[in-house]
Amino acid sequence: MFYTIKLSNLVYFEFYKHKTMKHIYILILVIGALTLTAQTPQPVKSQTGATVGYETVKPAPKTHTFNYIQAINDGARKVESTVIDWRRDFHEFPELSNREFKTADKIALKLRGMGLKVDQGMAKTGVIGILDTGKEGPTVGLRADTDALPVTERNDLPFRSRETSEFLGNEVGVMHACGHDTHVAMLLGAAQILTNMKNELTGKIIFVFQPAEEGAPPGEEGGAALMVKEGLIETYGIDVMFGQHISSGLDVGKVIYKAGGIMAAADRFSIKVKGKQTHGARPWGGVDPITTAAQIIMGLQTIISRQTELTKEAAVISVGKITGGVRNNIIPEEAELVGTIRTLDVGMRDIIHEKIRKTATLIAESAGATAEVEITGYAPVTFNNHELTKQMIPALYEILGEDNVRVTPAVTGAEDFSFFAEKIPSLYYFVGGKALDTPADQAFPHHTPDFIIDESGLITGVKAITQLAVSYLTTDQQASVGGN
Ligand SMILES: [Zn+2]
Ligand SMILES: [Zn+2]
Repeated sequence: MFYTIKLSNLVYFEFYKHKTMKHIYILILVIGALTLTAQTPQPVKSQTGATVGYETVKPAPKTHTFNYIQAINDGARKVESTVIDWRRDFHEFPELSNREFKTADKIALKLRGMGLKVDQGMAKTGVIGILDTGKEGPTVGLRADTDALPVTERNDLPFRSRETSEFLGNEVGVMHACGHDTHVAMLLGAAQILTNMKNELTGKIIFVFQPAEEGAPPGEEGGAALMVKEGLIETYGIDVMFGQHISSGLDVGKVIYKAGGIMAAADRFSIKVKGKQTHGARPWGGVDPITTAAQIIMGLQTIISRQTELTKEAAVISVGKITGGVRNNIIPEEAELVGTIRTLDVGMRDIIHEKIRKTATLIAESAGATAEVEITGYAPVTFNNHELTKQMIPALYEILGEDNVRVTPAVTGAEDFSFFAEKIPSLYYFVGGKALDTPADQAFPHHTPDFIIDESGLITGVKAITQLAVSYLTTDQQASVGGN
């Protein structure tokens, strides 16, 4: 018995020696895999299996000893009251799209005051602030839009807008009813923090203050499209772009994002249906464009309900205007439909445009009429580059806390930041501006006279956009970010 035990112990020991090595190897592999899983953002899938976000447990460790997170937190706390003051000033003196003259001068003055090089005049009233660390590295673009809307403010605030202007021949009130005043102030706050951290950074940061996001007046060019056309990206060598929008319906302290299409492409369409005029009592004597237009409207809806893969992304076609005819007993020569198309996927956008053309012209043809279809684009899909999103979301977790960064469903509104995102990898997200004690269904929507922002949310946007720049410039993963 004794020997047996002894022998088996010996045999086991011999075995054990080999097994130990094997176990150690396996252990190393398992730990390695677990560490990798913990540090690599894991895709968040929608019900249909599409990747809409990324989750992570731990951010990648930094080798540099400078504590960026602490510097951003301290910097944001210090600059917060100034950001709020700036915001109030921009709020009180808003200017319409392509007319942001005083706004631009104020921004330029503040950037120069920070010691930054400033260029003015791109896309009419654009302002570019350049932070060059003098060290080799990538170039990050941070964008804020600067224009206000023809809305008369109804809020009772000490810094309420009393400005008026002329818009489409009418005298109108002017108000920052979309919150672009907060975007400007938050980006200026970020510029201040980043300038103070200059020695700890490499590469360049380009602060892009973009006019006319809401759309240039008729007959004028403007906004992000004009900046791209005038060579913003090439002139400053911007590699990636970050942008943020305040939201009156999202709690302060929160950030929401979505990988892929976050905001829709918006396209306008008009369909001119031409028939043959006749007496209302004798429709067979002509070709009725009104009935044909009605058939086309229903046909357009079946493009969405029957022919579009809605599990992939949402899409909308809305007819907003019908015109045609002069009186009850005349079937007119012509009728016109005007509407909007919203899509969240570049391929789907092309397919839907094609189907609109086909549906309208063939329905018209079947009735003996003709249809002339015109589709004009306002903005492409605001597309968050998957690789960049995956790389940057952990950085937002780190600065804001994981609970404060969430995935949002896509928004069918459009945003001209999309013109930048079309050219270079970009990330666009929403920042909470709703007071915690305001129920979400009572928050006034953007573009309304009662639109209001709780300023305690601004510090979140300051931290978020600063952290994105810092994180991108201090990791070596930039090379992994490909095109859209
Ligand atoms: Zn707006
Ligand atoms: Zn806006």
